[in-house]
Amino acid sequence: MATIKFKDFTAYYKQKKDYFIAIDNVTFELPDGKISVLVGPSGCGKSTILKCITGGIPVTEGELTIDGEQVEEKIKHNIAYVSQEYSLYPQMTAYENISFALRLMRTPFDEIDRRVKEVARQLDIELLLTRKPKYLSGGQQQRVAIARAIVRKPNIILFDEPFSNLEATMRVSMQSLVKKLHRELGCTFVFVTHDLPEAFSLADEIIVMNDGCVEQQGTVQEVRSHPKTQFVKEFLNK
Ligand code: ADP
Ligand code: MG
Repeated sequence: MATIKFKDFTAYYKQKKDYFIAIDNVTFELPDGKISVLVGPSGCGKSTILKCITGGIPVTEGELTIDGEQVEEKIKHNIAYVSQEYSLYPQMTAYENISFALRLMRTPFDEIDRRVKEVARQLDIELLLTRKPKYLSGGQQQRVAIARAIVRKPNIILFDEPFSNLEATMRVSMQSLVKKLHRELGCTFVFVTHDLPEAFSLADEIIVMNDGCVEQQGTVQEVRSHPKTQFVKEFLNK
């Protein structure tokens, strides 16, 4: 279970002596086991919301809870994060990259091997495990990065515009992969994108943000057919 709740929640970045309000008094919920997609113009606070979920923003007000527990106390909550930078270790093979965290945790060797092979199968990268990142395409590197994220069996996976560096056909196949993974893992996915077709294709719930606020949340069908504000109407019909 991992329901993420924001209640009267505000997040600030410290700028010299000042504070910049990046998230401005939002109340919304990201449901357990669903794909929630955050959309909105650049700078509206999408990445900040993800950082808040990881507990990575020091100054906040209001409440942010995961399954009823304050995020600050839940730093150890098992959250995986996938961004557009694959950040793979260049000197390690795909297998070594994927198994890195498990090796640090001193997981027994045969368990590591079983789990790496399982995620490699899920991501269809079984034949790439002995390659180093420089011998992998962008899409393949992104698959390895996702495998590395899910091998720890997270209950929340955060995706921050993970496919924005990929070309269009690759993006579409990665979107199908995300849906398949979600069916198999059943955990809570929070996906940020500025690409509306991608948002519409993935979302169980869509959250439209603007200038640090949530304008509307609902199913794709709901927000498209009943936009609550002029902003949502214009943004979704761009
Ligand atoms: P998005 O992901 O929707 O493009 P962000 O969450 O990255 O937006 O940023 C929201 C706002 O917070 C923007 O105005 C951005 O300039 C500001 N911001 C982001 N990171 C920092 C930071 N480390 N320090 C100060 N301001 C920041
Ligand atoms: Mg961002």
